[in-house]
Order: sequence, then C-alpha cells, then structure tokens
Amino acid sequence: MILLRWKIRVFEFIRNGDFIFYDKHKPGLTSEEKREIYLKNFDADTFLTGTNAVTLDGKLFNIDGNGSRVAPMLYGPRQVIVVVGINKLTYTVEDAINRTRQTAAPLDAKRLNKYTPCTKLDRCIDCRHEQRICNDFVLITGQFIKDRIKVIIINQEYGF
Ligand code: SF4
Repeated sequence: MILLRWKIRVFEFIRNGDFIFYDKHKPGLTSEEKREIYLKNFDADTFLTGTNAVTLDGKLFNIDGNGSRVAPMLYGPRQVIVVVGINKLTYTVEDAINRTRQTAAPLDAKRLNKYTPCTKLDRCIDCRHEQRICNDFVLITGQFIKDRIKVIIINQEYGF
C-alpha cells in the first residue's frame, strides 16, 4: 500500500513537472498515439522503467510483448532508470528467467485481462495462444556507455 501511494506520487510529480513526459498511461490514447510515444522514447533524456529480474551480478532480464519496454532499455534514451523491488533479485540468469516466466508473466497476463492459459493455471506452459504476451526474451549483461542504466533497488517487495 505504501509503495502504491509512492508510485502514484511519482506519477503525479512527473506529470506536473517542468519537463516533457511521454505518458503512455494517459486515458483514451489510440494505438497510433501509443506507437508515437514508443518511438519518441528513443530520443528521451530519461527512460523510467521496471524490470522483471536482476541477478546478483547485475544482469537485467525481461520478457516483453511488443518490445516497447525493452527496446529503449537497450538503445536510445540518454539514461535509463530502473526501479526494482527486492522480490525481483535472483541468484542466476536461470532463476531470473524462471521467475519471469512462472511468476511475472502470468500475473502480467492477468493484469492485461488476457485469456492465455497462464491466467487460469497461474504458471506458464509456453503457450501459442493468440494473446500470448511473451515474445521478446531479453538479457542485458552490460553496456558501452558507463552508467547509462541506473538500477534503484527498493528494500521492499514491489511489483511482480
Ligand atoms: S507463454 Fe503463454 S502461458 Fe506462458 S506466461 Fe506467456 S502468455 Fe502465459
């Protein structure tokens, strides 16, 4: 609850700040307007996001549906700020993939009101459902530009 309030306040701050915010959560956006935001993200000064898992040696793992979240993490924005709860810390890449597939993705499919098998089974069966949300499996192991990606770890469980 505290973290939910924190998230709401972060959004309030960003929406009312003295800068341009490409707000993909703005109500009523058409899919074409969302696409324009996704493309503008590549030239942003800062891209604020979460991640599905962080390994103890600092690798970031994500599964994405259309790539709009992971693509700017890889290239474009001058800096990327990743906010992550301790529930997403994993020992190995294998653990990161497993938690993302078996925990995060089914919950995300539910959040998106999909009819994929995982929303009923609470686990991934690597479906080929037409609403499958798991298309891009991306592991970030490093980057050319030092400190471009900054990871802020919240000392609480946050997100899924
Ligand atoms: S592959 Fe299918 S079953 Fe597995 S998490 Fe993704 S949408 Fe759900």
